[in-house]
Amino acid sequence: MALLDELATLLGPQGCLIGTAVPEAARSDASRAGRNLPIALLRPASVDEVSRAMALCHAAGQAVVPQGGMTGLAGGANPRPGDFALSLQRLSGIEEIDRDSATMTLKAGTVLQVAQEKAAEAGFLFPVDLGSRGSCTVGGNIATNAGGLRVIRDGMTRDNLLGIEAVLADGTVLSNLGKMVKNNTGYDLRHLLAGSEGTLGIITRAVFRLRPLPRDRATALCALDSYACVLALLAGARTQLSGLSAFEAMWRDYFAMSQSLAGLRLFADAPAFSVILEAQAETAALEGFLGTAFEEGIIADALVAQTEAEARDFWTVREGHAMDAHLPGLINLDVSLPVTRLDDFAQACRVAILARLPGSHVSFFGHVGDSNLHIAVALPDGADDIDHTVDEIAYGLVRDLGGSVSAEHGIGTLKRAWLGHSRSVPEIAAVRSLKASPDRKGILNPGKVL
Ligand SMILES: Cc1cc2nc3c(=O)[nH]c(=O)nc-3n(C[C@H](O)[C@H](O)[C@H](O)COP(=O)(O)OP(=O)(O)OC[C@H]3O[C@@H](n4cnc5c(N)ncnc54)[C@H](O)[C@@H]3O)c2cc1C
Repeated sequence: MALLDELATLLGPQGCLIGTAVPEAARSDASRAGRNLPIALLRPASVDEVSRAMALCHAAGQAVVPQGGMTGLAGGANPRPGDFALSLQRLSGIEEIDRDSATMTLKAGTVLQVAQEKAAEAGFLFPVDLGSRGSCTVGGNIATNAGGLRVIRDGMTRDNLLGIEAVLADGTVLSNLGKMVKNNTGYDLRHLLAGSEGTLGIITRAVFRLRPLPRDRATALCALDSYACVLALLAGARTQLSGLSAFEAMWRDYFAMSQSLAGLRLFADAPAFSVILEAQAETAALEGFLGTAFEEGIIADALVAQTEAEARDFWTVREGHAMDAHLPGLINLDVSLPVTRLDDFAQACRVAILARLPGSHVSFFGHVGDSNLHIAVALPDGADDIDHTVDEIAYGLVRDLGGSVSAEHGIGTLKRAWLGHSRSVPEIAAVRSLKASPDRKGILNPGKVL
């Protein structure tokens, strides 16, 4: 195939893997929904190589799927039969930390944890943090507009992005790596590329704003009797607790299952709601706030972490990796709703799922401070939900309650059928025309999002 020969010449043996040399990891992201190995895995090591490889693929009408750390949960990086994949793995590294501007310029294939560690060494906080930090890439974070654990303080990925560089389908390089917070020069391509899931351009470099490294951090795990109390605690934390950096809630079934599988016993009897409250404050300030909340009957109990290890235990239960490991086929959905409706949704969703799929374990948790709920469903005997009954129930309720079918994981292929529950027909048509303009041949991650 002439195209593969040209790509092999351009990228060299490390940069163009074909046939049996393509690793299994290129088949699927963390959704495990990918079935096809790409025909070729392109691994360019410079922006120029990305550009020239895309120009060749464009001329040949060859579809290309961008791949970062493959931790996505929406199937966005999964190839279709006949696709090439383009990994950003070799385009990695920090280019500059600018102390005066408080910015970091880095390549898209940099692993998030590396960016966090380099920022910390320089006395700054990298403002994006997710459970997949050890594998996901900054380019993937931008392409999915990742959320994560500290959105309540620092916002989503796009909120921290000052500059971006991307290669379009035909190889054109769009570069605007400015470090300015203010830059109102018309349409902002940063915000189009953030969340575009590899369908508009291949992100090659970016500039992030850095935040001050917190000097103090206090973490508590609170037990609450009702969702009204959760809302009261959130309102109080927002107004009375300075430096609120995380507000994560777990419904009873989730906490009970996750703590037991993790081998922990934080609360012997799982409360109706457990909330991790984290603030950039001294422990005494958090204890004072919690004391008042206790006197007002908002919280029933609280554990305040005295060590990093104790705080880590709270997060272990919240992150629930043991559930993923012990419950094969666990279905994990990500939605957002007005914060006042999250428990109405959870109750209705549980009843509807148990009516149609009796014997399932249905549990809820999430970044409640960001109106973001995750739903974890284990079907009896680890069965597969081949009819997408859970999706149909959950996304139908989301539509009825005015929410969004994706809070932070994106649309990819797995939520494409439900996009119309959260986006109107004219909105989807406008997005289609935006996509068609830089990618007339439709070669950049076709079949994703739209
Ligand atoms: C344990 C775990 C915890 C997670 N927690 C969170 C969480 O709290 N919040 C959250 O939002 N997500 C979370 N995720 C999902 C996932 O980690 C994020 O979506 C992450 O941003 C994906 O980055 P990646 O590099 O792995 O991208 P990939 O999975 O490789 O790709 C994701 C999408 O981005 C595109 N893409 C990748 N790189 C580029 C690029 N350079 N240019 C253009 N397009 C590109 C791909 O085509 C695909 O559509 C979690 C996943 C796991 C496994």
